[in-house]
Amino acid sequence: SSSIVLQSPEKVHVFKSKLPPIPISNHLPLHTYCFENFSNYPNRTCLLAGKSYTFAETHLTCRKVAAGLSNLGIKRGDVVMVLLQNCAEFVFTFIGASMIGAVTTTANPFYTTKEIFNQFDASKSKLIITQSQYVDKLRDRKIDFAVITIDDPPEGCLHFSVLSDANEDEIPVVEIDPNDAVALPFSSGTTGLPKGVILTHKSLITSVAQQIDGENPNLYLKSDDVVLCVLPLFHIYSLNSVLLCSLRAGAAVLLVQKFEIGSLLELIQRHRVSVAAVVPPLVLALARNPIVDKFDLSSIRVVLSGAAPLGKELEAALLSRVPQAVFGQGYGMTEAGPVLSMSPSFAKQPLPTKSGSCGNVVRNAELKVVDPETGRSLPRNKPGEICIRGLQIMKGYLNDAEATARTIDVDGWLHTGDIGIVDDDEDVFIVDRVKELIKFKGFQVPPAELEALLISHPSIEDAAVVPQKDEAAGEVPVAFVVPSNGFALTEEDVKEFIAKQVVFYKRLHQVHFVHVIPKSPAGKILRKDLRAKLAAAY
Ligand code: AMP
Repeated sequence: SSSIVLQSPEKVHVFKSKLPPIPISNHLPLHTYCFENFSNYPNRTCLLAGKSYTFAETHLTCRKVAAGLSNLGIKRGDVVMVLLQNCAEFVFTFIGASMIGAVTTTANPFYTTKEIFNQFDASKSKLIITQSQYVDKLRDRKIDFAVITIDDPPEGCLHFSVLSDANEDEIPVVEIDPNDAVALPFSSGTTGLPKGVILTHKSLITSVAQQIDGENPNLYLKSDDVVLCVLPLFHIYSLNSVLLCSLRAGAAVLLVQKFEIGSLLELIQRHRVSVAAVVPPLVLALARNPIVDKFDLSSIRVVLSGAAPLGKELEAALLSRVPQAVFGQGYGMTEAGPVLSMSPSFAKQPLPTKSGSCGNVVRNAELKVVDPETGRSLPRNKPGEICIRGLQIMKGYLNDAEATARTIDVDGWLHTGDIGIVDDDEDVFIVDRVKELIKFKGFQVPPAELEALLISHPSIEDAAVVPQKDEAAGEVPVAFVVPSNGFALTEEDVKEFIAKQVVFYKRLHQVHFVHVIPKSPAGKILRKDLRAKLAAAY
């Protein structure tokens, strides 16, 4: 008899939240969802930014800005670039743009001209909203519509009042599809240059709901919270988990422009901040700086850290400073909308999640761990690449089907490039990163971007950039450089050449001159070898 070899179908180990799934209103436009309940509390404080704005005032100003953007010619699908530190106008612009179906791309105001226009061009932005101090960086380029400043406009710019003084009755009627883009942050993902990450109304609503909607009374945000927004809103962690979650929950957002420990502590004390969203370097400052003892931080109920790994010692040191608080880590990636996992409960008892863990996968989502070599699904307690599936993940990269296909597979799984495990209690631990990305204080440093700059130098033949561990920053970028024959190039020359072209956190910390960059037969840089070489040298 003929024998048929039946292949047993691969077993996929799928991990889910310990909490039950919830209904999510992701058919709505994002701004409608965020402000869905505000008429129950119009006079509650929404934004604290020097001046304070109630929910009713915030909503009305967003509507005016929506009308103003439309009056300037911005239409559904158009992209607006926000180049701002944290401020109320950031919120008005983002929500106002959403109201007319437009998309906001958020950029770091400290970027160099080159970095700003890489993003501006790739996103085909129509206008820029910024502060007068950054306008000089925008001078030598033509902007389609306008450069708008939130303070005294320099020559050739408009003041933000062209938006915020518009008549809200002039908002055009626009049909918004849940799959329309609303935010376009840039991220290099697992490989290559920064790319536009298309986050839709549906993806952001799903992500916000996964964090704060539903019956669980111990979720991270509640209506009576005062939420610290010191992390830059141009990064999706702050935009989503701080701003959008607070708007939806009816909590107040304390907008802080820049991080200075003394004034930050004073603000926390004065406004009785109850939820502090932070990153590991900020945890370090709060845990170690003696000045912390001079302030009353007893209002803090929840500390959430994300964007980079946080050690157990640091977590313990922080909690000794705010013993009444519950600590949780969130694990996110811009492309994932961004939250993959966080503590399912911010109650003090029972203990929320284990120290060092990033909590459980969010609700209404699936997580799996795969062998990075074979792609096979792994059971719990086995380290592998974390993959996530759900309606919260990005629609794809802007105009880059190839990079999208490399990141989201045909079954809808987004591959993170992070190595982690899921333990017996569903707790997720991130243990390593296999992608190229370097993270300096939670900021992205894409090696491919620095490598492209390096090889554009006439005296550099080849180059590779890899991370080196660093106590204060987590990681710093270090370059291996092959100089062209006969050129005397110094480490300082190379560092300076890069420093002129990039924002401060992408600067090279060391340059090693080598004869050759190790590569695979297919021409891929063997980054592991270079990282090992660095580790061995120190
Ligand atoms: P970004 O897209 O800038 O948010 O960067 C995402 C990457 O940051 C992730 O893929 C991880 O490598 C890293 N990351 C974010 N949160 C954590 C965390 N809690 N622990 C460890 N790494 C993290």
